[in-house]
Amino acid sequence: MRDETKCLHEGYTPKDGEPRVMPIVQSTTYRFDTTERIGELFNLPNAHMYSRFSNPTVEAVEKKIASLEGGVGAMGTSSGQSASLLSILNICKSGESFICTSTIYGGTVNLFAVTLKRFGIECIFVDADASVEEIQKAFKPNTRAVFGETLANPALAVLDIEKFASLAHKNGVPLIIDNTFATPVLCKPFEFGADIVVHSTSKYLDGHALQVGGMIIDSGKFDWCNGRFPEFTEPDQSYHGIVYSETFGNAAYIIKARMQLMRDLGCYPAAHSAFLLNLGLETLPVRMERYCQNGLRVAQYFQQLSKIESVSYPGLENDRYHLLSKKYLPKGTSGVVCFNIKGGRDTAVKFMNGLKLASNEVHVADIRTCVLHPASATHRQLTDEQLIAAGINPGMIRFSVGLENINDILEDIEQSLKSV
Ligand SMILES: *Cc1c(COP(=O)(O)O)cnc(C)c1O
Repeated sequence: MRDETKCLHEGYTPKDGEPRVMPIVQSTTYRFDTTERIGELFNLPNAHMYSRFSNPTVEAVEKKIASLEGGVGAMGTSSGQSASLLSILNICKSGESFICTSTIYGGTVNLFAVTLKRFGIECIFVDADASVEEIQKAFKPNTRAVFGETLANPALAVLDIEKFASLAHKNGVPLIIDNTFATPVLCKPFEFGADIVVHSTSKYLDGHALQVGGMIIDSGKFDWCNGRFPEFTEPDQSYHGIVYSETFGNAAYIIKARMQLMRDLGCYPAAHSAFLLNLGLETLPVRMERYCQNGLRVAQYFQQLSKIESVSYPGLENDRYHLLSKKYLPKGTSGVVCFNIKGGRDTAVKFMNGLKLASNEVHVADIRTCVLHPASATHRQLTDEQLIAAGINPGMIRFSVGLENINDILEDIEQSLKSV
């Protein structure tokens, strides 16, 4: 099946007489004939026993997204933040470190630089555009992973995934990619050597601003038996001595994440959220095509206006990431356009307040056009130094182009610019 078909048919296949639409299994628990049966199920990775770590509705969406990304398995989480957190905790503990590109989502910077530090895990930030030799210097004997974003929110930097995959593998560690903005429709990081993919499903995958959620997908390709990851090759005492790599082969990472971390931390999505996410997924390829068209039109429009200082959109031919985007995002570079308005922070705020169709929101990648000023919202916790490192100018506006008629979107921009 191709992506369009998978989005409609993967994950749930009704049998004779069953509901055409995937049902919401709104149940905490499941009934079994005997006590012995429950005992047996504790040895099975995907048996439904309790909805803190698995549920049939969520499972259907996990299968759909795993298939879209080309992975061997996936696990839903209650937010994109918990997906990023668990993707690291599954292989990194106190006293260890991992490497991350500096142009990532502000919430992830906080999680990695501040909260994980309190857990004793060190995140070393690197400039994604630095040379291989320069980035190599950040690796230490205790380095456990490399983390980056396909299309960074909001810097719109395109990651050279192959460069980072080969660096990570040369050092015996996996590459984890946050593929939220690209979605598997625009880029499939596993095809370029990434090992694990995470998503905030709250953005394009859902698309309608209905649920907050996350997903972790395992490519099944990383060799956890390379001598650096004893948590996969030695018995887990908290799970009656199971050895993940022996019992679960190339799905060891994603099954360990569920059996160990989800069991203990419990940030699993609700069945109803998974149902809403699935509705969004059904139209994902159609929506992505239009987001990309509208995004490019808005970027081109901003580019020729004298009141605009600069525009970031990898789909523009003169964008610094255009060459990388042709390789990694050949179908388009999403509906998110970032720009700096002449006059800086104050003018930016004035322009945003003057918009009538586009709304001010702490959200992005929605079906409706929305705008955000990162320096005073999502990234207000970052210092100016961190802002610059994250590719954000204090006057930058993140314009998330929706699926309205393009002329209505452009006219809204035009009328608000008249007042600044
Ligand atoms: C929004 C976002 C997250 C966090 O996801 P939530 O669902 O809000 O927790 C992580 N990464 C990226 C790229 C995002 O845009």
